[in-house]
Amino acid sequence: MTIKVTFPDGATRDYPRGTTGTTIVDGISKSLAKKTVAMRWNGVLSDLSDAPEADGRIEFVTRDSGSKDVLELIRHDAAHVLAEAVQELWPDTQVTIGPVIENGFYYDFKRDAPFSEEDFPAIEKKMAEIIERGATFTKEIWSRDQAKDFFGARGENFKVELVDAIPADQSLKMYKQGQWIDLCRGPHMRSVKDVGMAFKLTKVAGAYWRGDSNNPVLSRIYGTAFATKEDLDAYLHMVEEAEKRDHRKIGQEMDLYHFQPEAQGSVFWHPKGYVLFHQMEAYIRRRLDTAGYQEVKTPQLMSSKFWELSGHWGKYRENMFVVPDEVPGTEEEGPVLSGKGDLMALKPMNCPAHVQIFNQGIKSYRDLPLRMAEFGCCHRNEAHGALHGLMRVRQMTQDDAHIFCREDQIQSETEHFVHLLYSVYGHMGFDNVVIKLATRPEKFGGTIERWDAAEKALGDALRATGYDFEIAEGEGAFYAPKLEFHLKDAIGRSWQVGTLQLDYVLPERLDATYIAEDGSRQYAVMLHRAILGSLERFIGMLIENYAGRMPMWLAPTQVVVATIVSEADDYAEKLVRQLKAAGIRAELDVRNEKINYKVREHSVGKVPLMFVVGKREAEEGTVSVRRLGTEGQKVEPFMDALVALMADATPPDLKAKAA
Ligand SMILES: [Zn+2]
Ligand SMILES: [Zn+2]
Repeated sequence: MTIKVTFPDGATRDYPRGTTGTTIVDGISKSLAKKTVAMRWNGVLSDLSDAPEADGRIEFVTRDSGSKDVLELIRHDAAHVLAEAVQELWPDTQVTIGPVIENGFYYDFKRDAPFSEEDFPAIEKKMAEIIERGATFTKEIWSRDQAKDFFGARGENFKVELVDAIPADQSLKMYKQGQWIDLCRGPHMRSVKDVGMAFKLTKVAGAYWRGDSNNPVLSRIYGTAFATKEDLDAYLHMVEEAEKRDHRKIGQEMDLYHFQPEAQGSVFWHPKGYVLFHQMEAYIRRRLDTAGYQEVKTPQLMSSKFWELSGHWGKYRENMFVVPDEVPGTEEEGPVLSGKGDLMALKPMNCPAHVQIFNQGIKSYRDLPLRMAEFGCCHRNEAHGALHGLMRVRQMTQDDAHIFCREDQIQSETEHFVHLLYSVYGHMGFDNVVIKLATRPEKFGGTIERWDAAEKALGDALRATGYDFEIAEGEGAFYAPKLEFHLKDAIGRSWQVGTLQLDYVLPERLDATYIAEDGSRQYAVMLHRAILGSLERFIGMLIENYAGRMPMWLAPTQVVVATIVSEADDYAEKLVRQLKAAGIRAELDVRNEKINYKVREHSVGKVPLMFVVGKREAEEGTVSVRRLGTEGQKVEPFMDALVALMADATPPDLKAKAA
């Protein structure tokens, strides 16, 4: 009996049944065999030691490829090595589970004394020893009783529970590395040696067994691992940089905003933070105006009946804030519930409200495309634990817009949008944009013909813009494809920011129609699109991207006029008046403090510019100009400094217009 194996280049070869991936790769080339750590068999990541039973496609996973597969394998194997190391050092520890997560892995242990970061050097040393020993991973299929007896005898009660939870018809895989053995779905690389030495433990935390607070608390050790030392170092450096740039820390130093428990996930914008917010809003508004959008404002609170119609009540109810529709009562009784017990909800998105505006009056094909924008204030009931500064909030302001168009306009509208979006990102300081076209998922609504046409329209639009894009296979929404726009920030992190989602469903649900050229009534197509996403999150990103050193046009305070001696107070006041009259956000600092103290304080507040004035400057009509982050200062006539500052402070879109 033989099986036919197809290689990535299309070539095929017959092998005796029972031939393992290891033997196949050994027979191809020594150098390929040396670096191959696993395989994909018919697309499924598998142990190289597996022997395929039937014909199929093989792809080799090489350690130096740096692929996602390799990183997952390295991290998964590292989690096993971590568990072995911990049990070798502290044999009284019980093991539980240890999955791969984004950027690393963790393992949960049960031990009377929880682990601390002080244990890390000893554990890392032991891990290195185990990797050095280089035990081979071997897989065995066990019966449930065998596995339960084995773990039971060792006092591994959590593993017994895990075995019990596996459906009776599934086989149990046990992976051995030397003496150590674990219940695991696999796959693994050839040996623990393949983990390599580019690993590091990062933190500890408490975690409940199976995430349930009625269960015992486990000690969770987090770690990360990479294919090379350089990759690990780059990652650790990025993490360190990210901590320094944390918008929560910088936001406080700049006095931009705060949160408090009474309004979890909703921002209290301080005057300085709101300047930033407002500048962003004004910028986007100008861009949308020029791009032919019309701005609207729709209600915050709408009846549950409305949300039933839009479909949100069924699918999105748990993320919505719902309030009773109270009837104002007497002073003594207070408000009372309406007799019908009606419910209202805060809008989680703007789309259905925009359709209501579209539906006012009859629309003709000549009215399309109709681009409707709103700085929509939306509420979403996110779990407290998921909230994260400005990055994840419950009340957000979206730069939301919906384009109502005809099917034959999808492509041109998409193209138009992508150009606008690139220009906005460029102005915000982001040049590295990754576009993904998310295509039809396995489970989908609508016809294949419509999906194909929609994907083609979006793809053709992208090709016409000349920007590169990737296909995110199967990642489209249930009902239509979408575009995602990811930004790379100054320290290499990627953020999904913009989207364009095609939608045929909502217009049909809410009866958004127009009269076509032939007089027939047609459903409009909707494009849900956002450039910044939420203003809150985008501002958080901007703060981290610039480490608080905003471009001049966005800086909450653009210049501080600070005095060295009190004789210059009047002069300083006069300058601030003139700066403000010229539209500059200027502050006065005439406090009786040393100038070095003032400079330090304003640099913590990330003020980009200081005009320092003393007696001489007052007499000569000059200022000593100090820029944030640079040493020294330069004396200039005030008028020259003002003109330069005004140019610098002009928002990029207005600058482009003037040029
Ligand atoms: Zn495992
Ligand atoms: Zn929408």
